[in-house]
Amino acid sequence: MTQHHQFDAVIVGAGGAGLMAALHASKTANVAVVTKLYPTRSHTGAAQGGIAAALGNMEPDSWEWHAYDTIKGGDYLVDQDAAEFMAKDAIDAVLELEHMGLPFDRTPEGKIEQRRFGGHTANYGEKPVMRACKAADRTGHMILQTLYQNCIKQKVNFFNEYFVTDIIVQDNVCRGIVAINVADSEVHVFHAKAVMIASGGFGKMFKVSSNAHTLTGDPVAAIYRRGLPLEDMEFFQFHPTGIYKLGILLSEAARGEGAIFINDKGERFMERYMPTLKDLAPRDICSRYIYEEVRAGRGIGGKDYVYMDFRPEVINKHKSGPGGKEVTREHLEKALPDIIEFARVYLGVDPMTQPVPIQPTAHYAMGGIPTDVDGCVLADNNKIVSGLYAAGECACVSVHGANRLGTNSLVDIVVFGRRGGKHLAAYCKSANFAPLPASAANDTIGEFDRIRASKGTERAANIRNDMQNLMTNYVGVFRNGPDMQKAVDGIRELKKRFKNLKVDDTGKIFNTDVLESFELGCLLDLAEVTAAAALNRTETRGGHAREDYDKRDDVNWLNHSMAYRTDGKGDVAVTDCSIRFEKKPVVITKYQPKERKY
Ligand SMILES: Cc1cc2nc3c(=O)[nH]c(=O)nc-3n(C[C@H](O)[C@H](O)[C@H](O)COP(=O)(O)OP(=O)(O)OC[C@H]3O[C@@H](n4cnc5c(N)ncnc54)[C@H](O)[C@@H]3O)c2cc1C
Repeated sequence: MTQHHQFDAVIVGAGGAGLMAALHASKTANVAVVTKLYPTRSHTGAAQGGIAAALGNMEPDSWEWHAYDTIKGGDYLVDQDAAEFMAKDAIDAVLELEHMGLPFDRTPEGKIEQRRFGGHTANYGEKPVMRACKAADRTGHMILQTLYQNCIKQKVNFFNEYFVTDIIVQDNVCRGIVAINVADSEVHVFHAKAVMIASGGFGKMFKVSSNAHTLTGDPVAAIYRRGLPLEDMEFFQFHPTGIYKLGILLSEAARGEGAIFINDKGERFMERYMPTLKDLAPRDICSRYIYEEVRAGRGIGGKDYVYMDFRPEVINKHKSGPGGKEVTREHLEKALPDIIEFARVYLGVDPMTQPVPIQPTAHYAMGGIPTDVDGCVLADNNKIVSGLYAAGECACVSVHGANRLGTNSLVDIVVFGRRGGKHLAAYCKSANFAPLPASAANDTIGEFDRIRASKGTERAANIRNDMQNLMTNYVGVFRNGPDMQKAVDGIRELKKRFKNLKVDDTGKIFNTDVLESFELGCLLDLAEVTAAAALNRTETRGGHAREDYDKRDDVNWLNHSMAYRTDGKGDVAVTDCSIRFEKKPVVITKYQPKERKY
């Protein structure tokens, strides 16, 4: 039996963005957080390195420099007004977290301690600056725990392990959501004045990925399936330092503490490419040059990886420690405990005595659901969808443009989670409940019944594996037209295979077989849009590096790309492979696009 609930606002997701929004919105509105994971298992908890804010606690800094670095780092595809809001608000948001009780690392005088991170500079690109606030290399964990504890204190309503399948929008007004209770497969309809989607990333479309198993973007797929656009989906960030073959992340915090890249000849090759920032150049640039080295036969042992070296004696020899200072083993063990442990556990390599094999790994979705700076979701021609919000990695504000700087996602989730939460609360005060269609749950029930009854021959795990290989092989760090066409065609074939699924578990209790199949359908839609958008954009910019169009093309492509579903069906099942692309201008305030040199 379908169950019904009514709340002023529903927030989909309990990561940093969802919890920050819930905290602010629930001051005046009756809010429910609906999340497929128990809140503290959200991916925000895996964030290691830090959260940027121009506090200037270690050396002079300013929010204008932070905004400039963000815009330049994003290869000028960033909406500059949004980046300015973010850099300015970051200072206040970090202090708010501190006052909530977040245990940041401290300087001897008791201020929040900061470290360097890729692409963050003083005085408009002059030299690296210490801007990342952190709690060792467990910053995201601390943010998530702090926010969750404060939500409990404030008595926010949680629906944990409820899987959201559909967002109900009619006549451009959001009316609620549909969810499945993971424990018993019951369908729940939530009627609300406002909904915020804060469902995180969708990096599980790639084989080598730093993302958690659950990052499948189901609510983002729901938005697309219901006919709303997705923005800049071609821009996916490849983080340079994934553990070789596994993709598990070794945070850029290591390079903030002085780690360097080394090729097979023992050269610190980033010195050659980026003489000022060297190994602390933005991620897209580092990932590309790692592969340049590999292609030139200078990967370790001729293979497709290089070393990240953060042995104390190596850092001291290269004077690559913070401010050129000497580092000790004790300092590194204290500053980077988790990633040192990861290398020991997953690779059997001790970074204090050996260099660590690394390879770029799919990490972060720059694109997603288009919003304004208050989190309001935008339909075509920038028209606001009443009562619908998005924040965090699933959203595209756009503050990251073509490439996100390290530590800027944690900033994004707290700044825009907060802005969105406040705006949503104000909206709930003045808005009425828009009527809910009687058929709201029908599509979800139909699709889940279909999947549960699947008696075909195809295994979801095999289709997922094939999709991930297509994406990693053909829509990776380097891209070209023929390869991306192979990915698009291949995914379209996989969608056909998806219709012929075989599901073993036909029961209703914790049926992960059915849920993971539904997740796979969502990933197939998002992978198709990503590959097609990448094929569509005939230039090289930020994380999108094309061998056949190897220059940035500001004349034709200083634009966001908007992808729309066009098969006219508008249901929640996997789409029928027809995408229309449009362009939207980038907002420029002060900074005219320049060549990116570091
Ligand atoms: C290993 C790793 C390290 C990182 N390190 C850093 C760092 O140091 N600094 C930095 O700035 N960024 C970092 N990032 C990026 C950053 O952590 C994420 O982009 C950010 O935390 C995302 O937060 P979020 O609130 O948007 O989503 P998440 O924290 O991913 O939360 C998503 C929420 O949505 C819910 N959800 C998803 N689908 C559904 C559904 N269908 N139904 C119901 N609920 C759903 C989930 O249950 C979850 O609660 C890192 C990322 C990774 C993977």
